[in-house]
Amino acid sequence: MTIRVYNTLSRRKEDFVPLHGRRVSMFVCGITPYDATHIGHAKTYVAFDVVARYLRRKGYDVFYLQNVTDIEDRLIDRMHKSGRSWKDLVKEFVGEYLDGMTRLACTSVNLYAYATDYMPEILEQIEGLIAKGFAYAAEDGSVYYDTTRYPDWGKLSGQKVEEHIAGARVAVDERKRNPADFALWKAQKPGEPAWDSPWGKGRPGWHIEDTAITVRHFGPRYDIHGGATELMFPHHEAEIAQAEAFTGVKPFVNVWMHGGMLMVSGEEMHKSLGNFWALKDALARWEPEVLRFFYLNAHYRSPIDFAPELVDEAGRSYARLRETVRTIDAERRRTPDAGSADAALRAATATALEAFDAAMADDFNTREAIAAIFEYARSVNKAVEVGTGRVALDEAATAFARFGEVLGLFARASADDAVVEGLMDLLVRLREDARKRKDFATADGIREGLAKLGIVLEDTRDGVRWKSA
Ligand SMILES: [Zn+2]
Repeated sequence: MTIRVYNTLSRRKEDFVPLHGRRVSMFVCGITPYDATHIGHAKTYVAFDVVARYLRRKGYDVFYLQNVTDIEDRLIDRMHKSGRSWKDLVKEFVGEYLDGMTRLACTSVNLYAYATDYMPEILEQIEGLIAKGFAYAAEDGSVYYDTTRYPDWGKLSGQKVEEHIAGARVAVDERKRNPADFALWKAQKPGEPAWDSPWGKGRPGWHIEDTAITVRHFGPRYDIHGGATELMFPHHEAEIAQAEAFTGVKPFVNVWMHGGMLMVSGEEMHKSLGNFWALKDALARWEPEVLRFFYLNAHYRSPIDFAPELVDEAGRSYARLRETVRTIDAERRRTPDAGSADAALRAATATALEAFDAAMADDFNTREAIAAIFEYARSVNKAVEVGTGRVALDEAATAFARFGEVLGLFARASADDAVVEGLMDLLVRLREDARKRKDFATADGIREGLAKLGIVLEDTRDGVRWKSA
């Protein structure tokens, strides 16, 4: 099945064709570790984790590169305010970020590249841009990109240089020739970390860090660049201007992918609005898989409205799918090889796998893919009611494993399952023993205790079954 991907640059879905056979180079803008990772970041990284997982599942050899902006204005600002060193802040917030990513099962990144490890490439690109007439050094030792020299400026976001001049969004800076020009190199101010350069001590601008990293690892052209929509302008626009002017190769990136924004109860998330959710606080309140499910239950390009009650609701939906996974596992252990609903279940499994794949191939539509899983779960539950055999259930288990591998879900459910199943078998057996010795007080006590935990015991012809109410 051809994979179709929405390319922000062309504003339409395109057939996905990698530059080099089955190899896919993917870069996603990483964090600036000056503060806690928040739930908006997590939305982006869960989305691109699934992109990498799905492409790998389809046989592509994906190299997923993410940068760490370990020197930047906001980090320096935080350094001044906190009295801590930038390295110390980077260590803390990268550690926290990686911990959050591990818990969210965002495990697909091959390399985290720290900007300050790429100083030779950064300087080489700035010098090259000056030599080609795309950049100029100001008197104070800062270097700027001259946006009027680059004819394609604005092609990604649709913003034009004139709009910038007309708008008052860019502060007047006398060192710049044009208001839209951006810094490639920032001259050192007192108390700031700095590196040597031909223009004196200073540090790189944010945008040049990313092109230095990608040109080193991927060369002048690569397959996918991802990031949040908020980064499209000026950050990604600047990356294009830098890379294409420096290397002379167009397009610098084949497919630009942007994830929709996260709002909190209808408003933009800001510390000043008191609606800020750090990822670690969200993970303290919800299971990582529930949060992941919440994000993936929307298409990655759609904005998401985050509200605690919506995540709770997602948790309840997700619990239904987990219950189906658990039922499949439990039934596989107790059922004979064949059952009367086998044909129906096997047909439903084939349909579900196809529907899931079709949804994912259509611009990674996880929302549709999850809808297909729900549809399938209903078929599974019905088949179990009628009576299915182990072979058909094994196929169902494999299907859920496939969904889980791509979406990064259903892992916790199955890991917990083994223990839960074992404990439940033990309790059911103890209750049976109690009934045999006519110790009904103990037998009823076990049943009532489980009921309080939301677990119902059913006495059937084939023995005792249990399920979550
Ligand atoms: Zn970036």
